[in-house]
Amino acid sequence: ANKGAAILECEDVTVEFDGFKAVQGMNLQLQKGELRFLIGPNGAGKTTMLDVICGKVRPSAGSVTFGGKVDITRKHEHQIAELGIGRKFQAPSIFKDMTVMENLEIAMRQKRSVMATLFARMNSEDEGRLNGQLSMIGLSSKGSWRAGGLSHGEKQWLEIGMMLMQEPEVLLLDEPVAGMTDKETDKTGELLHEIARARSVVVVEHDMEFVRNFASKVTVMHEGKLLKEGSMEEVQGDDRVAEVYLGR
Ligand code: ADP
Repeated sequence: ANKGAAILECEDVTVEFDGFKAVQGMNLQLQKGELRFLIGPNGAGKTTMLDVICGKVRPSAGSVTFGGKVDITRKHEHQIAELGIGRKFQAPSIFKDMTVMENLEIAMRQKRSVMATLFARMNSEDEGRLNGQLSMIGLSSKGSWRAGGLSHGEKQWLEIGMMLMQEPEVLLLDEPVAGMTDKETDKTGELLHEIARARSVVVVEHDMEFVRNFASKVTVMHEGKLLKEGSMEEVQGDDRVAEVYLGR
């Protein structure tokens, strides 16, 4: 049966750096409303896959299709972002001398045309969106805080909130919980699930406890290739996955 087109489809993707194949014939299909964890040992090619999807790295072979029809394999990073694929890197890129709310507002306005921005006045709809976003990322009581004064975890949530103000259909996150406290990590897991109710999310993650607690579907990469895909139980019960992780 046709389950509908994938929101994102990477087919047979290969990436070479000076003849070294960092990714080799990798396939990845993401459905709408899916939260997918991409795991694997260091050097497996996970970050390179995110780089390919967002247009930062050009694959030497293979294709990436967005929304079932748009070939984005050779599009530029900004075009891919405009189409609705947002990428968050590990280092936060917030404006630390502005307030939390101002940061969200900037992100909202970046989405609009220059004319609309020049003449824009905040209307009640905008205010509603900003407040809704603030609440979703758990910072309702800190809208007027200087962003630089937030904790590490809160800064990460603010950046996720800024991405969401641009209304991407797909979010690509690289180790979002790195450096977070246990409590912040759990809140982030819940936030990711909430985001995936309306959007699709790919998370590259090394924190296996986090993955165990929050992943429904996991893709394991090893040496640039797909090693295993399935539920956390299926992946954990796989001998090859155990071998790769534990060197058994
Ligand atoms: P992961 O995210 O799974 O740890 P990466 O995608 O970062 O893996 O890297 C995969 C492989 O490609 C590694 O061996 C890494 O050293 C290599 N690599 C990544 N980026 C580059 C680059 N720009 N130039 C050369 N080699 C790279």
